[in-house]
Amino acid sequence: MNRLPSILYGTPTSLTRKPNRRKRWLKYKNEHRLQCKRLGKATTSWQQEMAERAKDCTRRSPCGEGWCPQCMVRAQEKVFDHCGPALQEFLTEVQAEAKKNGDPIPQAWVVSAASARMAVNRGQLNANIPRAVNSTLRKRLDGSSLSDAICFLGWDVSLNFNKVKLKSQTRTRKWKRKNEHWQVHIYGIVFAASKAAIHTVFDPIFWHQMEEGDKPVKVYPRAFKDIPLTSKYVLKPNFIQRENNRHLSLRPNKWNLKAGEKDELAMFLGDLGFKDRLLLKGVKLVRGTLIRTKGLPHQSKSKTQEELSKRLLGASTGLFGPPRKK
Ligand SMILES: [Zn+2]
Repeated sequence: MNRLPSILYGTPTSLTRKPNRRKRWLKYKNEHRLQCKRLGKATTSWQQEMAERAKDCTRRSPCGEGWCPQCMVRAQEKVFDHCGPALQEFLTEVQAEAKKNGDPIPQAWVVSAASARMAVNRGQLNANIPRAVNSTLRKRLDGSSLSDAICFLGWDVSLNFNKVKLKSQTRTRKWKRKNEHWQVHIYGIVFAASKAAIHTVFDPIFWHQMEEGDKPVKVYPRAFKDIPLTSKYVLKPNFIQRENNRHLSLRPNKWNLKAGEKDELAMFLGDLGFKDRLLLKGVKLVRGTLIRTKGLPHQSKSKTQEELSKRLLGASTGLFGPPRKK
């Protein structure tokens, strides 16, 4: 994997170091093997079909399944390598355009939104939730002051629960889990002139609070150099269990998902696919390369970058891999 100029990034991450990438790949390769084995032994035929479609997936010839751990880690690397730097370039472009036209200068904002309406019980995780919000959000974005903005957003899920203290505390157990649920949420980067403009669009969709004091829509500024780092969280391959984020100043504790939970999640991710997992506006992904759909034509793609993306993607089509076989 090509090592990127470190000047673009604030702190080095696991994705910028080659040995770490190898380690990560082996971790998800093992995850892929275990999950294919588990789904292959499942009693339902559609689960067996899922395993069948992904079982021959390799780094060179990806299966393109939305739930495949190998394809997800590969897609995240691509987002980090290509989309992050491309977004930095687009921000420079839109800022220059706004300056020329005398418009307010757009900045990069991180948007994280989740509402109580997007929380479902175990066994009820459904790809129609993000799909419905995607179409509503798209319509609202088009008819707002953000109609020309660039959005690079992606859906994420976590298994959330509340911690309840046990009355009689033993040495090993001091608390138990209550109100376990899947929380679907959206995260990503939006280029907009103000925080208020983003809230105007997102707040009416995500206004349902989980609990008192909770903010369904969080918007905060992002420095230019941190854009690639943020972009890697838009398409994550790892999903976790976490304590409901009640005290925003504290980082919630995280746990790995159990086998049954991973299988339910795989069904959700497989149904959603990479295409619906991302919500792009003003940009689009063509063979893993981000291009602008509005404004100036994107011409700054160098020959080496083009060659690199060709080499990385091989003959694959679609967003990050070959289209799903029907
Ligand atoms: Zn795959």
